[in-house]
Amino acid sequence: MSRSSPVTERLYYTNAYITRFTARVVEQLTWRDRPAVILDRTAFYPEGGGQPADRGHLNGVPVEDVQVRREDGAVVHVMSTPLTATEVEGVIDWQRRFDHMQQHTAQHILSQAFLRILGAATISVHLGTQAATVDIAHDDLTPEHLHAVEALTNRVIEENREVRVHFVDEATLARWGVRRPPRVQGPIRVVEVVDFDRVPCGGTHVRRTGEIGVLAILRAERYKGAWRVTFVAGARARQDYRRRRELLQEVGHVLSCGENDLLARVQRLLAEAEAARKQLRSLEARFWQLEAQVLWANGEPCGPVRLVSATLESATPHALRHVATVLREQGSVIALLGWAGGHPARLLFATSSDVPVAMDNLLREVLTPLGGRGGGRAEWAEGALPDPARVKDALAQARQKVRERLTGA
Ligand SMILES: [Zn+2]
Repeated sequence: MSRSSPVTERLYYTNAYITRFTARVVEQLTWRDRPAVILDRTAFYPEGGGQPADRGHLNGVPVEDVQVRREDGAVVHVMSTPLTATEVEGVIDWQRRFDHMQQHTAQHILSQAFLRILGAATISVHLGTQAATVDIAHDDLTPEHLHAVEALTNRVIEENREVRVHFVDEATLARWGVRRPPRVQGPIRVVEVVDFDRVPCGGTHVRRTGEIGVLAILRAERYKGAWRVTFVAGARARQDYRRRRELLQEVGHVLSCGENDLLARVQRLLAEAEAARKQLRSLEARFWQLEAQVLWANGEPCGPVRLVSATLESATPHALRHVATVLREQGSVIALLGWAGGHPARLLFATSSDVPVAMDNLLREVLTPLGGRGGGRAEWAEGALPDPARVKDALAQARQKVRERLTGA
C-alpha cells in the first residue's frame, strides 16, 4: 500500500452513535508483533486525546487495540488473530464507548466550569477505563470551590444542552475564541456545548448533555504544582453511588447503628479503645512491678548479692526489660531472665551497678554453645536463642557460672 492511499475515514467524527458499519480492508500489517488491519473507513475510536481506544469485533474477530499510525494518520485495528477478509463488518463495544462519551463530554463541561468559577485552566486530561482526572492550574482548591464547580457542571448537564461538532478554519477559530488552542493544523474540529463551551477536540461525545446524567467529583489532590481532580460521570457515577450506599450499610450493620449515627459511633469507639489501651498499659506496668517483687522475694543469696533467675511465660520482651529494671533498682542483685514465648527465645541478664560480674561476657559464654547471639554492657545484656526449649538450660548454666565467680562453689 503506497503512502498516497487516503487515510482512514473516521465515521465517529460526524456521528459518534454508529455502532455497526461495513468497510473495505486496505492494508494488512503487523503492529508491534501483532496482526492488524487498516480499513477505508471506521467507527472505531483510536487511543488519543486522553480517551482510551474502542473495543469490538471485525467479522467476529476481537479488536484488541486501536491506534493511529503517525506517518499518515491511518487507524490501525490490532486483532486477536489475523483477518483475511477484504470486506468486513465492524461492531463497536457500545457500553464501553458510551461510558467514554459520558466521561469525555462531562470533562468538557467540568473544565469550562473550573474556568468560569475559578479562572482555572485544565492542563491535562486522563480518561481511564476506571478513573477520569483533570489537572487544574490553581493555587488552592477548597471543598467550597469543588462544590461550586460540581454544581455548575450538573446544572449544565440537567439543562440538556445540545453538543455540536463543527469543522472550522483557523480564521473562524480565532473569531470564536475557544477554551484552549488547537493541537493540529488545517480544518479544526470544534466541539461545542451550546452557549457554554467550545474546544478543539477529536474525541467522541454525547449528543445532549442530559445523556451524561450526573457528575461527581471524588477527590482533589496536589499534583506537580497543580491539582489532580478525580471525577466520575454517568453510569460510573451511579455505580459509585451504589457502592458507597452498600459500604455505609455494611459498616452500619457491623456497628449496629443507622447511617446518621455512624460518625459519632466511630468516634466513641476510638475514644473507648484509646482509654482501654491506656488502662491496659498502666495495669501491665503495675503487674510486672509486683511480679518483680515476687521474683526478688524468691531469689537466692549468692555471696554478697541476691541471684534472681526466672523464665517469664506470659511476658513480652518489653515486659522482660521492665522486670529487669525494677529488680536492678533494689541494688546488689543479678537478674537472669528468659522469655520462651516465641522464636527466637530471649535472654536478658542485668545487674545493679554494685555487682562485679560482667553480664555481656556471661551472656556470650552461655549463648555461644547453644547457637545464640547477643551482647550489651557489663550491667545489661540481651540475646536471642534459636530454640525456646533451651532457655531453662541456659539460665541454669548462667546461675552456675555466677555462683562459681561469687562464691567459688
Ligand atoms: Zn472532547
